[in-house]
Amino acid sequence: MKNLSPDEIYELFEKIHSKLVEEFPEGTVRFTNSNKLTTAYIPHEAYIERLNDVCGPFWSFVRNGEAKIHRNEKLVEVSGVLRILDAERDGTGFHKFNVNEKGDIINLNYAIRSAKSDAIRDACDLFGMGWKDLHKFRKGEKVTSVPESSMSGRECIKCRNPLSNEDIQELKKLNVDIDFCRKDIPPHFYNHKR
Ligand SMILES: [Zn+2]
Repeated sequence: MKNLSPDEIYELFEKIHSKLVEEFPEGTVRFTNSNKLTTAYIPHEAYIERLNDVCGPFWSFVRNGEAKIHRNEKLVEVSGVLRILDAERDGTGFHKFNVNEKGDIINLNYAIRSAKSDAIRDACDLFGMGWKDLHKFRKGEKVTSVPESSMSGRECIKCRNPLSNEDIQELKKLNVDIDFCRKDIPPHFYNHKR
């Protein structure tokens, strides 16, 4: 990379980026269906595969310090930086863990790995990856305005928007104790619902 000029790096990034944001193969988008609300998402495996295919050795994800354990919420949080050439985007990811009767965390390493994959997915979204696929499903979502009276005084830990009653109901249903709006509930949380 060192013998490329800034212009050349920019050009290379443009080339790579246009491939990153291409539509994913058919069938990549998955749906979670709960409470009349359908959420479309792309599994993190698809993002990572795309990064490997398009960027090869020119991408990396570096964690910001240790994973955070939210004991009460039974959640692991990982944040880090996705780097593609010289471009960087932050990502934050979450995963649930289970505890045994003694209160020890079971499978913490797995939870951290999964939270890290979720963080990569989050950062990929900031590069615009998957937008073409998800756009059609997300369209209607933003239009729904939340009436003032339904504001709860709680806010989403990711986007900082106030939680609506619908958001809170959804969290209850999924048994998630951490405040996410519905848009930001990590998609894999739906798989843990039993
Ligand atoms: Zn949010």
